[in-house]
Amino acid sequence: MGSVTIAGARKYYGAYEAIHGIDFSVADGEFVTLVGPSGCGKSTLLRMIAGLEEISDGEIRIGDRVVNDVAAKNRDIAMVFQNYALYPHRTVRDNMAFALRLRRLGKAEVKAKVDRAAEILGLGDLLDRYPRELSGGQRQRVAMGRAIVRDPQVFLFDEPLSNLDAKLRVAMRAEIKELHQRLGTTMIYVTHDQVEAMTMADRIVVMQGGRVEQIGKPLELYDRP
Ligand code: ADP
Ligand code: ADP
Repeated sequence: MGSVTIAGARKYYGAYEAIHGIDFSVADGEFVTLVGPSGCGKSTLLRMIAGLEEISDGEIRIGDRVVNDVAAKNRDIAMVFQNYALYPHRTVRDNMAFALRLRRLGKAEVKAKVDRAAEILGLGDLLDRYPRELSGGQRQRVAMGRAIVRDPQVFLFDEPLSNLDAKLRVAMRAEIKELHQRLGTTMIYVTHDQVEAMTMADRIVVMQGGRVEQIGKPLELYDRP
């Protein structure tokens, strides 16, 4: 259900080809990192998978549904961004509940989903706070909570830990891995940090210049010259 199939996907910005016909698949429940230097197209490819970016050619499917054929609010994905993208004037609870209200879920159901996400992420005591009253790590947890309440088939992470200091980054990596084990959902994680890519992934996709340069399990890639 949460498999992702990328077939001949291309992206042009005007005449500039940012993504050059990429093909690969991610299995249901797999954790894949996309790694490569700045400007190689990681974020563009992730946004294409999310349906946030028009695909110039080729196709991307989640399960058996073509991403661009499905309305944004019905897509089975949730994205977590580097800058958290929290609403500053809403509490933690409302930040998590907001997207669900748009889906017209009942009050009790929204509350149950938010409470479950808060429990998973250890945010129970912070539900009435505002983003400015939180640390960077706590904000990133709220951003993850907002993704979890959507019950997505696929989580997409765009350099979620880049704004955190080194120590917290290591702790949050472990939290995200735990989340993956607990939920069992597909996760695609963009990072420019090779260590992060190696330590977190079932499989790594190495990008370069809008193309996939290598793809494999961490140890397979590590052994190459
Ligand atoms: P990465 O995430 O690997 O740093 P991006 O996906 O952000 O790379 O960018 C890939 C390439 O596409 C870069 O050369 C970037 O300048 C270009 N690009 C990204 N977004 C746009 C845009 N909206 N318009 C034009 N060019 C873009
Ligand atoms: P919302 O007001 O729901 O936050 P946005 O303008 O942020 O909406 O996003 C547009 C669409 O993306 C909406 O249909 C919403 O359901 C969906 N959406 C909201 N949050 C996320 C998320 N974390 N990941 C992916 N899609 C989201």
